Amino acid sequence: MKWMIAALVFVQTLAFAENKQPNILFIMSDDHTAQAIGAYATVLKDLNPTPTIDRLAAEGIVFDNAFCSNAICTPSRACIITGKYPHVNGVVDLGGNIETQHQTLPILMRQAGYQTAIIGKWHLKREPNFDYYKVLPGQGKYHHTEFRIQGEKNWPGNTVTHEGQHSSDAITDSTLEWFRTKRDPDKPFFVCHQFKAPHDFFDNAERYQSYLADVDIPEPDTLYDVPETFGSIATRGFQDELVTHIGTSIGSRNPRRSYAVDLKRLYPEEFPSHYDVKTMSERETTRLAYQAYLKKYLRCVKGVDDNLERLFAYLKQEGLYDNTIIIYTGDQGFWLGENDYQDKRWAYDKSMRMPFIVRYPKSIPAGIRSDAIVENVDFPALMLDFAGVSIPASMQGRSFKQICETGKEPTDWKQAAYYRYWMHMAHHDNPGEMAIRTKTHKLIYFYGCDYKGENQTPPGWELYDLTRDPDELNNVYDHPDYRTVRDQLKQQFAELRAQVGDDGSHYPECEKVVQEFWDYDAADRQKAIEISRAFKLSREQALGKAGKL
Ligand code: CA
Repeated sequence: MKWMIAALVFVQTLAFAENKQPNILFIMSDDHTAQAIGAYATVLKDLNPTPTIDRLAAEGIVFDNAFCSNAICTPSRACIITGKYPHVNGVVDLGGNIETQHQTLPILMRQAGYQTAIIGKWHLKREPNFDYYKVLPGQGKYHHTEFRIQGEKNWPGNTVTHEGQHSSDAITDSTLEWFRTKRDPDKPFFVCHQFKAPHDFFDNAERYQSYLADVDIPEPDTLYDVPETFGSIATRGFQDELVTHIGTSIGSRNPRRSYAVDLKRLYPEEFPSHYDVKTMSERETTRLAYQAYLKKYLRCVKGVDDNLERLFAYLKQEGLYDNTIIIYTGDQGFWLGENDYQDKRWAYDKSMRMPFIVRYPKSIPAGIRSDAIVENVDFPALMLDFAGVSIPASMQGRSFKQICETGKEPTDWKQAAYYRYWMHMAHHDNPGEMAIRTKTHKLIYFYGCDYKGENQTPPGWELYDLTRDPDELNNVYDHPDYRTVRDQLKQQFAELRAQVGDDGSHYPECEKVVQEFWDYDAADRQKAIEISRAFKLSREQALGKAGKL
């Protein structure tokens, strides 16, 4: 009997050693945009912001067209946990949650024999359905980081605080502790390691305060001057009358929320003592606010990168580095001063694009890049496929394992990504919008209303030719040369909406507005002008009452 058990254990160990089920380490930072990763960067490349992540990229595959379907934290995370688009999984804004029994990805991983753990930012509100969890409450804190941890009391009763520690250090310490004390070496692991950094308002560990202190951070071309060809009546108002009211700004353009106004209070040490947004030139306060913003942000990024070096060193030491699929991503993109924008939310690429890097030397060749369109709803299918799990029909996303392993798209692979931002004019003054993104074009429809079809901003359409205009600065929606492309793309957009299940049934009053301005004929355009005027008046009245005008 004894030898039989021994033989069985031997056979099981052998099966694991053959690596039928690879370990999976899913690393996600919060708001870490591609422009701030060396493997993607342009303006910031010389600063070498992420040497550790860049090594991962050089040894694996880098996706240039990975997109989220809604560029805010909770919806993006919900897409990854469920494999469903926001309008299907129900998490269309920051108020949503995913019930424990609907957290498909970790449930299927456990059923497939994986030991599952999540450590760090969670943001889906309900108890995580992992074998082990240690997650931040809500956004969590940068310092003296508190966690909700699995334990005797019911969720969310058990908490532990890492006094004096920065969240990136505390999260990495916690993941390393899980590996050292809780990992079952007889099972493959599925670990989600999720940083809070570099989410706003950025705060780095004290040891990074001198990093980049004496460096002049390179500026994007459009920080001070945005070309007039950018945007539409939806984003600028009729004759530019809403430029002060739509999209929060680095400079003092938007009086409701501007880094030139806000950051001095948060980071006084980053500004000269004579800094004053009322007496200094707008160009100078924009410049100083941008420098403060980028330095705080990049110090948070540095903390993420250094902690990953520490985590990877452990995996190498334990012989786990090469038999673990390591994924690095951010939950969406972020604006780093381009077009004078801050934050995310827009359907433009700066916020819609996610960094996505996969390293797994056993089957993924080193140093390849792919321009295949992949979406965050596809990520769970990819991981399940690597784990040998068949993808349930209820998941909308598809595995792109074959693309990872060959760099080539299957002939039937998707050619467009779907985008929708629902939180009309909340927080950062972005209108309700939806978009289709192909490899060559972006068509954005700002329908401009809330869930009830109310609080309208002017509806408008924008079309960008990404082959000639990758920074999306030249709206060619009304350009005669693009009429055919535009009309074909609009048809494709309607079909894509139906295909992903955004059929208007979720918020019918909102859908009425969507349909009303879909063809955007002369009457629609006239009505958009009237809405622009009415919105300007109402916003000025509100600001006047708040003393901000
Ligand atoms: Ca985020």
